[in-house]
Amino acid sequence: MKLLVVEDEALLRHHLQTRLTESGHVVEAVANADEALYQTEQFNHDLAMIDLGLPGMGGLELIRQLRARGKTFPIPILILTARGNWQDKVEGLAAGADDYVVKPFQFEELEARLNALLRRSSGFTQSTIVAGGLVLDINRKQAVLDDKPLPLTAYEYRILEYLMRHHQQVVAKDRLMEQLYPDDEERDPNVIEVLVGRLRRKLEGESGFKPIDTVRGLGYLFTERCR
Ligand code: CA
Repeated sequence: MKLLVVEDEALLRHHLQTRLTESGHVVEAVANADEALYQTEQFNHDLAMIDLGLPGMGGLELIRQLRARGKTFPIPILILTARGNWQDKVEGLAAGADDYVVKPFQFEELEARLNALLRRSSGFTQSTIVAGGLVLDINRKQAVLDDKPLPLTAYEYRILEYLMRHHQQVVAKDRLMEQLYPDDEERDPNVIEVLVGRLRRKLEGESGFKPIDTVRGLGYLFTERCR
């Protein structure tokens, strides 16, 4: 998933970027609200993690401005707050955040909350996504097809998870590219075609499972219903 981290403490920002990238996410990490507003106007993220105590515009005001965009900013927001007092959390939730983590936190707790938010925002209540004989374990980042492990590379897995989270919707190639590369790296749309091609071959295997359609000029469609 593509995550936005807004945190002014350089060390924590770097730590979050590193750990979340290791967990298989694409992470944009910025130090203030202005950069965050710019990022959210330019790119599509799946979740934003926002520190409340930011220099300049604070995290609460940032959340209010993002939520004021309404349907164009529907993604979950997780607050990071150093302050233990309950008023901050209440204000943050009232401003439109979905959950919070109090600093200092264990990375595992942050990750668990993040995964729960991502799961709920795509309408899944379990930590697995199932389509026929295909089961994705989104915590372990593993796939099983017809009760056999399906070996996927990290990039193939990300594409499959994203398509399944957005099942029965056309997903543009650009959106898939955002799942693979941070914005400042060079992107090559052919890479997506190659990866989707490999993914299709693996899924088709001996069982003939063909859940990914190409929608010419638009992108890809995972045709099976997922639950
Ligand atoms: Ca701070």
